[in-house]
Amino acid sequence: MSVLIAGSVAIDEIETPETSHKNLLGGSASYASLAAAFYGPANLVAIVGEDFPQEYFDLFKAKGVDLSGVEIKPGGKTFRWSGKYLDDMNTRETLDVQLNVLTEFRPNLSEAYRKARIALLANMGPAEQLAVLDQLDAPLLTIADSMDLWINIAREDLLKLLARIDLFVINDSEAKLFMETGNLITAGHKLLALGPKYVVIKKGEHGALLFGKDGQFFTSGAFPLHGVHDPTGAGDTFAGAMAGFLNSLGAGEISFRDLGRAVVHGSVIASFNCEGFSISRLKELTKADIDARFEELRGYTAF
Ligand code: AMP
Repeated sequence: MSVLIAGSVAIDEIETPETSHKNLLGGSASYASLAAAFYGPANLVAIVGEDFPQEYFDLFKAKGVDLSGVEIKPGGKTFRWSGKYLDDMNTRETLDVQLNVLTEFRPNLSEAYRKARIALLANMGPAEQLAVLDQLDAPLLTIADSMDLWINIAREDLLKLLARIDLFVINDSEAKLFMETGNLITAGHKLLALGPKYVVIKKGEHGALLFGKDGQFFTSGAFPLHGVHDPTGAGDTFAGAMAGFLNSLGAGEISFRDLGRAVVHGSVIASFNCEGFSISRLKELTKADIDARFEELRGYTAF
């Protein structure tokens, strides 16, 4: 059974204190689908313009991402995003956003895509996430990610989405903003009360918190890295790896323990992603690298 990833596909421009690059493959669904594809084929639902480079289509295909759900808008321009990291490599300023074809995105899933077992609604407008959710036949697990922009400008739709999904993934500052509290444990429980069975709050280099009605699972830190080159897409690869890993478990119910392991897979792939610019590290990564780092992280944290 397949995993479906819907979200943005973008052309990014990224500036760090060391360097800057243009015309990079970006977008929440790009990162998430490439991460999910380490665990099996991933179906991508997104929109791009006619300017979208062929080399990126080729890369998706080579990595096991099915593109039949990607709409190419005639005459349209791909979503463009540009960001700058400050010295700590954690604080990011958005320099420019050109929504372009994203404003015309009306997801329309094929029969095959509607049968997705696991669906990840990666970061995009909650109205578009709801439109994808409406078309799914009977998914075992639905996951959604979001960001401060939607919390600020589309709160009502985001609340509708939360009432209908199984797992909500969000980072720490956004969870606090959304739930209007400075305490992450309170934020996790308040989010659970809005509908999802599970909530994951990502804390960057400080790990992640998984809340469920049937338990809690906390990682004490992300994989320790010497150097972060570009954290862009860390959250998206985290969610994509969770979706891909959970789909790879096959038929049957998903246990709380499975979700905990999915969180660790998310942390592992996100750590690799931060080691290279844009998707450069994901491009060369193998499943064996991921499994080795998973075991290494287990060694650092088991007691
Ligand atoms: P992250 O680092 O996980 O926040 O994800 C960064 C990616 O999100 C970049 O590649 C951007 O192209 C994409 N992105 C930025 N803003 C938005 C937005 N409003 N909607 C969808 N994707 C976005």
